[in-house]
Amino acid sequence: MGSLSVRKSKRIEGLVQSDIRRMTLECNRLGGINLGQGICDMPTPPEVLEATQAAVAEDLSVYSRYDGVEPLRAQIAAKMEAHNKRPTDPESEVVVTIGSTGAFACTCQAMLNPGDEVILFEPYYGYHRNTLTVAGCVPRFVPLAPPDWKLDRAMLDAVVTDKTRAILINTPSNPSGKVFGREDLEVIAGFCQENDLLAITDEIYEYIVYDDAEHISLATLPGMRERTVTMSGFSKTFSITGWRLGYAVAPPEIAGPIGLVNDLCYICAPSPLQYGVAHGMAKLNDSYYTQMRDMYQVKRDQICAVLEAAGLPPIRPQGAYYVLADVSRLGRSTAREASMAILEQVGVASVPGSAFFTGEVGESLVRFCYAKEDEVLEAACERLARLA
Ligand code: GLN
Repeated sequence: MGSLSVRKSKRIEGLVQSDIRRMTLECNRLGGINLGQGICDMPTPPEVLEATQAAVAEDLSVYSRYDGVEPLRAQIAAKMEAHNKRPTDPESEVVVTIGSTGAFACTCQAMLNPGDEVILFEPYYGYHRNTLTVAGCVPRFVPLAPPDWKLDRAMLDAVVTDKTRAILINTPSNPSGKVFGREDLEVIAGFCQENDLLAITDEIYEYIVYDDAEHISLATLPGMRERTVTMSGFSKTFSITGWRLGYAVAPPEIAGPIGLVNDLCYICAPSPLQYGVAHGMAKLNDSYYTQMRDMYQVKRDQICAVLEAAGLPPIRPQGAYYVLADVSRLGRSTAREASMAILEQVGVASVPGSAFFTGEVGESLVRFCYAKEDEVLEAACERLARLA
């Protein structure tokens, strides 16, 4: 009798638990304040909570259509037209998914083959990179340089090959906070069309943009609607990161295959939560979104000022709710060491910059998440100030 030889798949070879999650464990172990993982524990709007409680109480608990319940698809389509300026057919162009993470995983499975190359901007969100790896795709990195993360066409031409099939744009970006402006998007749109690429956008932080930055959806640029998957979700907008509700919007020829994979993997997103979010979206008006953005801008300014004074110069984000700070002054040789030193010395968790870069640049950076209630952020800032 031979023993069973259990081997893990080649697809996940070399992958380990993310530094984002690892730092949460370290933070809990040491009893710190967690500015590492983008948990976003701000209160959920009562409109969303109450409608969801009602949906549970009304027993709206059976499978939904694989692409989502009708009221939520209708709300997403209306939002896509009013906010993103991409008119959308709720019947054929929307797939409600398990978070925007689920939208991306389904898009990769539905639209890409093993060996396909996909362009990612660096710094990247590690889950994008690793999801591509699990799909057998090869990420090709376009490094953008701080502080303005400027992009030009030559950078894209330098990485494209005859195997390139897609490009991923995360705007506002995690972790850099870059908001891709119209000029950037025009460069990307021209590049996609000349090279016949699929564009996949992750716009999960779309409502969190600061100062005069404007969120623009790539799908609205001429010639891009037919080749773009627009992904977003409700985690950040309604502070419901654990509900796992997101969506992909794409032309029917693309939304169809994404929906097929979504059905196979998940059947559907949790039904009562879908009804709750749909009702919440219908009730909340523009002022909700504006107030949220203004609140995050105050938090951004607060933590940037503290980091500056502490000698950890921040790279001021234009959007999202993370800030990268230069930790060179702490004299550690890696970002992991610097991040652990900050946690051990003052009890604030961050994510090492190396989680977001292939090269050395990340080793002198750490990422702080400021999606925290005022008292918690205040306490974290007091602690960080002690590093001065
Ligand atoms: N998107 C969040 C972050 O970047 C959370 C991701 C996660 O928990 N894995 O921190």
